[in-house]
Amino acid sequence: MSEKFQAVVIGGGPGGYVCAIRLAQLGLKTACIESRGSLGGTCLNVGCIPSKNLLNISENYHKAQNLSKLGIEVGEVKLNLEKMMKNKDKAVTILTKGVEFLLKKNKITYFKGTGSFKSENKISILDDQNKEIVIEAEKTVISTGSIPVSLPGIEFDEKIIVSSTGALTLEAVPKKMVVIGGGYIGLEMGSIWSRLGADVHVVEFLENITPGMDREVSTEFMKILKKQGINFHMQTKVEGIKKTGNSATVLTSDKNGKKNNFDCDVVLISIGRKPNTNNLNLDKIGVELDEKKRIKTGKNFQTNINNIYAIGDVIKGPMLAHKAEDEGIAAAENIAGQSGHVNYNTIPGVIYTTPEVASIGKTEEQLKEAKTDYKIGKFSFMANSRAKAIDAAEGFVKILADAKTDKVLGAHLIGPHAGELIAEIGIAMEFGASSEDIARTCHAHPTFSEALKEAALSVDKRAIHS
Ligand SMILES: Cc1cc2nc3c(=O)[nH]c(=O)nc-3n(C[C@H](O)[C@H](O)[C@H](O)COP(=O)(O)OP(=O)(O)OC[C@H]3O[C@@H](n4cnc5c(N)ncnc54)[C@H](O)[C@@H]3O)c2cc1C
Repeated sequence: MSEKFQAVVIGGGPGGYVCAIRLAQLGLKTACIESRGSLGGTCLNVGCIPSKNLLNISENYHKAQNLSKLGIEVGEVKLNLEKMMKNKDKAVTILTKGVEFLLKKNKITYFKGTGSFKSENKISILDDQNKEIVIEAEKTVISTGSIPVSLPGIEFDEKIIVSSTGALTLEAVPKKMVVIGGGYIGLEMGSIWSRLGADVHVVEFLENITPGMDREVSTEFMKILKKQGINFHMQTKVEGIKKTGNSATVLTSDKNGKKNNFDCDVVLISIGRKPNTNNLNLDKIGVELDEKKRIKTGKNFQTNINNIYAIGDVIKGPMLAHKAEDEGIAAAENIAGQSGHVNYNTIPGVIYTTPEVASIGKTEEQLKEAKTDYKIGKFSFMANSRAKAIDAAEGFVKILADAKTDKVLGAHLIGPHAGELIAEIGIAMEFGASSEDIARTCHAHPTFSEALKEAALSVDKRAIHS
């Protein structure tokens, strides 16, 4: 007799484990299946967490090299990469173990193995010894995430030609590193290795980095990264990668057809990720995919098979951990008969470089395209006293508000702690606030958040400090 569950979640990433916890909170007998051997998914194991750990340490390394400018004389600053990587691995282990504890605390059965459908209600779990068990599920949530995409015909060896996963575990600082793709993963990884001493070259097919971001912010962002020493080759197409011994040559051509080859010791391919529906046996039960091979879902996160749901990177929408988490909660609530819901207009996006970049809601380009009348409020961190005081005054805040109603439609920030500041705009937008509401809210002095208030004041051309 196979064990029966009211809900089974396949995938223990931020979508899956959060969904499982919410299902258990709502009183359902729940199981979570994870094939990786540790919980937390891409995010905790090879994504958000290790990358933020290395961004923080590499930033400290960079700062330590420049302390004498601030009047602090220290000895020679030396890099111990092995120790740095061990520190990162420790942070990952603590957090993944923490998720395991949370599953236990919520009485969720955790199966280590690969889940696949035998039928709409029967799930096979194959462990790493090829031992199979079968469980029964009244409802199943697929949360199997995404995997990196390579260029046609090029395989990741994770040493010389690497995905983000390999870029998080390099054993030596590359002398020269080519990053293919100017999206957030490529730029975060490029920043880490550039700070540690690599000569980093970003090759991007499009005219701008971070496509989809408000154009003014992405232009400023590239200017700042260039100043930090990262090289950009825009409108440049990669035509191939040749591997020779311990190095590689990236063959490119620019928009005029001019060829340029980059010899380097590491190539990071960060051109996107694809939904991971491998091994699930979806064909067998007829779960429909869309044109991008993502699992098709309706508004309740239900697939075309009524008792099967899907959330996170494996369905449409931005591939972000907090989007996956919110969908996990909403799907669990829908399964339990409640009305789970995700507001896709208020999902923030953050790039954890220095300075940070953060955005929420509509960009100026989107408002123009939708022919929405809007007002802009902008405020530079150059005029923010806290940012000036600590010599972190690069960047600005840009708030977009409806021309008639003054309702906040979007905000785009580049500057210190932008990733934290964006939460204020998120709350404002969830409450349908106007820019005047933000402008009339008292903000502590001296804080970076005063830049938000001033940008909101600037929507009606009444900023005080500019
Ligand atoms: C380098 C990098 C940095 C990132 N930084 C950020 C960031 O700063 N902020 C942010 O919001 N997002 C970030 N992301 C994106 C974020 O990691 C993903 O959006 C998020 O992890 C998606 O969550 P998920 O639960 O949908 O899928 P995943 O986290 O991918 O989890 C899916 C899990 O399912 C498991 N699985 C797959 N198939 C099966 C199966 N058949 N049976 C059992 N288990 C299975 C996988 O092993 C995996 O652990 C980053 C990603 C990368 C690669």
